[in-house]
Amino acid sequence: MSGEAFSFNLAETVVKWLDVGIFVLDKNFEVQLWNNFMAHHSGRAAEEIVGKNLFEAFPELPKPWFTKKVNTVFLLNNFAFISWENRPFLFRFAHNRPITGGADHMYQNCMLLPLKAEQGKPEAVCVMVFDATDTAIAQNLLKEALEAISEISNRDGLTGIYNRRYLENRLSSEFDRTRRYGGTFSMVLFDLDFFKKVNDTYGHLAGDKVLVEIAARMKAQLRTSDVLGRYGGEEFILILPETSLEGARIFADRLREMIELEPVIYDNITIPVTVSMGVTEHQADMPSYTSMTHQSDLALYASKAAGRNRVTCYDPSLEKLAAQAKH
Ligand code: GH3
Ligand code: MG
Ligand code: MG
Repeated sequence: MSGEAFSFNLAETVVKWLDVGIFVLDKNFEVQLWNNFMAHHSGRAAEEIVGKNLFEAFPELPKPWFTKKVNTVFLLNNFAFISWENRPFLFRFAHNRPITGGADHMYQNCMLLPLKAEQGKPEAVCVMVFDATDTAIAQNLLKEALEAISEISNRDGLTGIYNRRYLENRLSSEFDRTRRYGGTFSMVLFDLDFFKKVNDTYGHLAGDKVLVEIAARMKAQLRTSDVLGRYGGEEFILILPETSLEGARIFADRLREMIELEPVIYDNITIPVTVSMGVTEHQADMPSYTSMTHQSDLALYASKAAGRNRVTCYDPSLEKLAAQAKH
């Protein structure tokens, strides 16, 4: 079918009614065409805008940036594309979606096309404005969901503090960072004393409550850079960046005392809780971060052997003690 079969101008009608913003600018940024989409979303009719300078009509537009974009199209005589990912919108238009996904405006992709007579240099630039809100909302929701999943996968389900997986990763990265850039860090491994007895005497739910409560109390004492996690059943790890062995020992003992002095109340029952701790500091000659878990484990074992409810710092003599205990 040839175009002549139509008694109306197809191109003009489509441009007018298409659900895409279309406007045309001359070299002085005077608006030559303003379609219904632009009129509807800006609230400014074509009769009001056509013949006016774009930036005088819309002073809120990013003038230097958009001028440069349009001038490049004039100069290079080539298409240009602006993605919502680089600049969320050109015009601050409202969108008609329910308020979800945090979008308070219409996200836009823009396409700039040079317009010219048969041959020669462009005389005008046509700008097409596409509503990219649905894509942007979907992408933002996906990003948020992935962040939430990643956060959940690092957390312990019972206590909400970090889990073993995260602790291992953090220890490893803290170890590498310290080795590369210097400085130091310490770690504390601790274990609740006679926890089996807590479960046996007060029940498993009471035991769970003790774990949740102790984790929360510890967390309240930390600096933002400190990392607390649950390493196993009733074993916890504390990573203390930029902290010496002595600094870590003093801090650990304060935590130990705090737990000892304030029993956990569950169902009107007072449950006394104590913890034993093992502390170690990063050393330049350690082959890997597992040296630190090994050393803090030995120190914790020494705290248990010496009567529990105490803090022990790693010392090479502990290696012999542990070897003897095995025999
Ligand atoms: P020690 O002073 O030598 O550490 O004695 P303990 O009884 O604390 O040590 P043991 O390792 O023998 O027992 C740990 C107990 O912790 C056994 C297990 O039932 C309990 N436990 C581990 N995970 C959980 C948990 O998530 N909830 C509860 N309620 N108990 C747990
Ligand atoms: Mg225990
Ligand atoms: Mg244990």
